[in-house]
Amino acid sequence: MSDGTVHIVGAGLAGLSAAVTLVGSGRKVVIHELARHAGGRCRSYFEPALGLTIDNGNHLLLSGNSSAISYLNTIGGRHLLDDPQHAEFAFCDLKSGERWTLRPNDGPLPWWVFAKNRRVPGTRAADYIRLASLLQSKANDTITQRVDVRSPVFTRLMQPVLLAALNCDASEGSAQLAAAVVRETLARGGQACRPLFAAHGLGPALIDSALSFLGKRGAEVRFDHPLRSIELGERNIRALQFEDGTVELKESDRLILAVPAWVARTLVRDLTVPTEYRSICNAHFAIAPPADLPKIMSVINATTEWLFAFENRLSVTVSSADRFNEAEREPLARQIWAEVAKIANLPADLPPWQIVKERRATFAATPEQNALRPKPRTRWENLILAGDWTDTGLPATIEGAIRSGEGAAKLAMSARF
Ligand SMILES: Cc1cc2nc3c(=O)[nH]c(=O)nc-3n(C[C@H](O)[C@H](O)[C@H](O)COP(=O)(O)OP(=O)(O)OC[C@H]3O[C@@H](n4cnc5c(N)ncnc54)[C@H](O)[C@@H]3O)c2cc1C
Repeated sequence: MSDGTVHIVGAGLAGLSAAVTLVGSGRKVVIHELARHAGGRCRSYFEPALGLTIDNGNHLLLSGNSSAISYLNTIGGRHLLDDPQHAEFAFCDLKSGERWTLRPNDGPLPWWVFAKNRRVPGTRAADYIRLASLLQSKANDTITQRVDVRSPVFTRLMQPVLLAALNCDASEGSAQLAAAVVRETLARGGQACRPLFAAHGLGPALIDSALSFLGKRGAEVRFDHPLRSIELGERNIRALQFEDGTVELKESDRLILAVPAWVARTLVRDLTVPTEYRSICNAHFAIAPPADLPKIMSVINATTEWLFAFENRLSVTVSSADRFNEAEREPLARQIWAEVAKIANLPADLPPWQIVKERRATFAATPEQNALRPKPRTRWENLILAGDWTDTGLPATIEGAIRSGEGAAKLAMSARF
């Protein structure tokens, strides 16, 4: 099929990663994207309320996210992320006023849990060792069923980390998905959990660099070009219907469907996909942070969960935020700002702000929803699925999306088809 065309529908990270893997393989690559821009749920845009370019949501990316790192290296975007030499995480407990810095040692042997000045205050080495039971989780286990969620090591470390990774509370979150994240990051030592900070935004690093890489290699990206329907045959996709016409698929052509789960389900009725979602709320404030504020801080006992300090703004992430879906925006901005002002020692007056609610930020990472994730291969030989909601073994993350795109591209190139 080296003369065939691979049509990729969706220019989020999964679609872009599929295209990046495919260009250079001899196939023609055409990406069809509904929006006028790429990036999907991971994008930068100009926000008039702030007069600044912001990310739709702050994203926590770690050095152990191997597929994301290799994608960034390929597209030439890695230098656009700040990459500290060692893993360090600043924490603040808003209720008690305590602040501490977690410093896992570089190597995989976790001696840092024995060092009082590196671990979480109020915890003992044995508390960390007990967390290992998470790694033996079964498919139906929730996090609460595997670990003591009342222990300080959970409330002061694992809870904020796993909530950010799964976007799901421990009481319902899949222990297996949590274990997969821990296995690829924390369990591999400090060098696998250096937090990469998108100081100039996610868009330039992860999206614009990919578009430029693809453009130079002859891939075609059609924006404002939504796929409306798919003509399904018994064993193959026959044609793709767009508003401006129909694309008939030749025998050597492939379709990688890299749209969100709910769109995939409307395009291909027979698919089983996750059906529940959790929202993420971000609050952005146009104010320069004090110089001594850490770039990324986890906040405990507050609405604010993670605080990101950019050069010209402060941005707050609240995960599993369905409780705020209907909340009025200004009171919410005021509530969050009151916390941020206290943490950062800034005036109480509300600076220019914006609240961004992504209602379907991720599928609900529960054991039940995880079981609904489909494999990339479908019963149609030329149709391959990609996206953070496919069965990657990871929660809906940048790493999962990029890995799924790469896997879909490899399937599209494989001899079986
Ligand atoms: C607020 C927020 C915070 C997050 N925080 C983190 C984090 O801290 N760390 C982390 O790793 N991950 C995080 N994530 C998750 C991460 O952003 C996603 O997992 C990832 O971006 C999903 O990529 P995707 O390509 O699978 O899907 P999408 O980004 O949804 O891409 C799908 C694309 O398909 C397009 N499309 C839809 N319908 C059609 C159609 N009919 N025709 C053509 N195109 C179509 C869409 O416009 C979109 O561009 C966060 C997500 C959000 C929303």
